[in-house]
Amino acid sequence: MGNIRNIVILTGAGISAESGIDTFRGGGGLWEQHKVEDVATPEAFARDPDLVLRFYDMRREAIQTKEPNPAHEALAQLDSGWKGELLIVTQNVDDLHERAGAKRVLHMHGTHLNAWCTACDVRTPWRDTLVERPPCPECGERALRPDVVWFGEMPYEMERIYGALREADLFVSIGTSGAVYPAAGFVREARAMGVRTLELNLEPSQGTAWFDDARHGQASKLVPQWVDEVLSS
Ligand SMILES: [Zn+2]
Repeated sequence: MGNIRNIVILTGAGISAESGIDTFRGGGGLWEQHKVEDVATPEAFARDPDLVLRFYDMRREAIQTKEPNPAHEALAQLDSGWKGELLIVTQNVDDLHERAGAKRVLHMHGTHLNAWCTACDVRTPWRDTLVERPPCPECGERALRPDVVWFGEMPYEMERIYGALREADLFVSIGTSGAVYPAAGFVREARAMGVRTLELNLEPSQGTAWFDDARHGQASKLVPQWVDEVLSS
């Protein structure tokens, strides 16, 4: 890997798909006749909070039955073995990176396993349901919502992400469609700053032309292979 020291990795739905977590986005996916876009917005939550909370309760329960796959495990291995800077920016709201053992993970779209209190702004680790409106453990208000970034809301920690990209020597995008901004724009930011870029994805993404290199296939095969190359260089 020559003079690579600082690495930023972006992961998306493609890496969790092989663990059986579907996104409801491919194939015009519907949930109880609702488009996911219609339950993953602040407007939907204001209009029909029971519907939105039930949807997220179901997702929260589902991810707890899934396991990390070899792609998550390889990235955890990279995290523990890489001496330079490393940041795994994930668009996924599951905890499979962490369960595989990765530490340097940033959830730009939040996480299913937190509840966020809109009264006191405190986030609490959460594994149960929210639809019954349990009180916030911090302030007692019944004002908890999923700690997930909805359509139309600002992703978390963008300054930290752009800061890491500025310091990076290599940007790797894994299992993302290249369709959802701002993450889809990271490759262009990286290129503009002279960072080398690599895509690992099932198929060419919408942004594939922006990458210096691209490899296409299953994340569970490509990622362990790439991590071996990096750690043995
Ligand atoms: Zn509270």
